[in-house]
This record gives sequence, C-alpha cells and structure tokens, in this order.
Amino acid sequence: MAITLADLVATACVNARTMGELARMAHSDSLTGLPNRRAFFEHLENEIKRALRFGDDLALAMIDLDHFKQVNDRFGHAKGDDALCHIGMRLRSVVRRGEILARVGGEEFAWVLPRVDRDAAVGVLERARRAIAAEAVEGVGVITVSAGVSALRPGDSSKTLMGRADDALYRAKEAGRDRVVTERPAP
Ligand code: GH3
Ligand code: MG
Ligand code: MG
Repeated sequence: MAITLADLVATACVNARTMGELARMAHSDSLTGLPNRRAFFEHLENEIKRALRFGDDLALAMIDLDHFKQVNDRFGHAKGDDALCHIGMRLRSVVRRGEILARVGGEEFAWVLPRVDRDAAVGVLERARRAIAAEAVEGVGVITVSAGVSALRPGDSSKTLMGRADDALYRAKEAGRDRVVTERPAP
C-alpha cells in the first residue's frame, strides 16, 4: 500500500499534538489543571535566579486547606475532590499575570509572586483567605485555608525560601488555622 506524503504529514501532526499533550500533562495537575509540583519548582528556580540578578522582590506563599480530612470523612472523597478543585479555581481567579499558582501536594498550593515584597504578599494572601472563608463551597460548606509567606533574601535557594514559608504555614496551623502567617525576621 502506497504511503503518500499527506499520510506522513498527517501522522507527524498527530505525533506532535500527542507530544504537546504529554508535555502539558507532565507539567499540570489532572484534578485542577494548575501547574504541578514539578512545574512549580522549575518556575520558582527561574524566578529566584531572575530576582537575585535584578535585585527584585519575590514572595512565596504556601497554602493548605484546613481540616480537609474531615471534608472527605463527612462527604466522601469525590466531593472532597470537587471542593479541592473549587478552592484551587478560587485561588486562581485572584492570581495576577506573571504570578504562578500550583498544586504542590494533596491539598496544598504554592503561589509565587514576582516583584512583590513580603508585606504586599501578606495583604494579597489575606484578601484571598478572607474571600475563601466568606463563601461556602456548594454541598460542603465553608472551607478555610491557612498560609505561610516568605520573601526572597540574598543567598536564598528554592529550598530555603520554601522552608521559611512552610515553617510559617505550620505556625498558622498551630495558631488556630484560617490565617496568614509571615516568616520569622532574619536573624
Ligand atoms: P490541617 O488543617 O492540619 O491541614 O488538617 P487536614 O485534615 O487538612 O490535614 P491532614 O494532613 O491530616 O490531611 C490532609 C487530607 O487531605 C487527608 C487527605 O485525604 C486529603 N487529601 C489530600 N489530597 C486529596 C485529594 O486529592 N482529594 C481528596 N478528596 N482529598 C485529599
Ligand atoms: Mg490540610
Ligand atoms: Mg496538607
């Protein structure tokens, strides 16, 4: 059977689309469509390099849903998935151009805010937190989030910057949840 040039071109196009789709899938989370953990780290590393080179501000927030296990226990895992996606979309709706919101863990999101200092980032996160707490998720009720915020310092890596945001998030949980906590000041 003769294979025409048109067949070859068509096959190449299908392959290219498949490759594109695979690349997209490798970088995004299937539940929310947000960038996944791997994509997040790539973005964060690039943004840190850029900010350090130009002396720009850069803030990072780690966000975790409060008592989410109870949501699954009460309403089932499928409803839990819907609620998780819902909160992800609400967060995404307030993310501005140039910022990155990713789902980096089960019910955990990370938000990179280039050219934003720590105080401004706390303001942004506080508004997002309040908006989420103010509106119930259909069929589930109110879900709250806790967040930890850190800001880039000279010599930071993704690990150190994220470590401080994680530490602040831990303290937000300890302090009672549904709040935004800032990293400890530099020693
Ligand atoms: P905390 O306020 O301390 O964060 O309490 P929590 O219950 O949210 O925290 P914990 O780490 O004890 O539990 C996280 C829960 O999130 C447990 C797990 O079943 C749920 N979870 C994680 N990923 C998913 C997911 O993809 N879908 C659903 N439905 N639940 C998830
Ligand atoms: Mg949680
Ligand atoms: Mg968690």
